[in-house]
Amino acid sequence: MNDSFFAGAFGSDASKLPPQTRLECKICWYAYDPAVGDEVWQIPPGTAFSELPDHWSCPECDSKKQDFLVLDD
Ligand SMILES: [Zn+2]
Repeated sequence: MNDSFFAGAFGSDASKLPPQTRLECKICWYAYDPAVGDEVWQIPPGTAFSELPDHWSCPECDSKKQDFLVLDD
């Protein structure tokens, strides 16, 4: 991972997100769960949100990664 990956997305907290953190699309409420991955983008289970490719976007509404909000359990 590189430090610029999340620039402007989640601020300084981005790199501190635990790898199992789930995030929710603020547009359509699709939730990305690292334990599940993403079939649409062929993201394998176990992939942290921070490890998603730069071009990844919401599989439901095409929102960008910066439109996702951290889900607190
Ligand atoms: Zn969405």
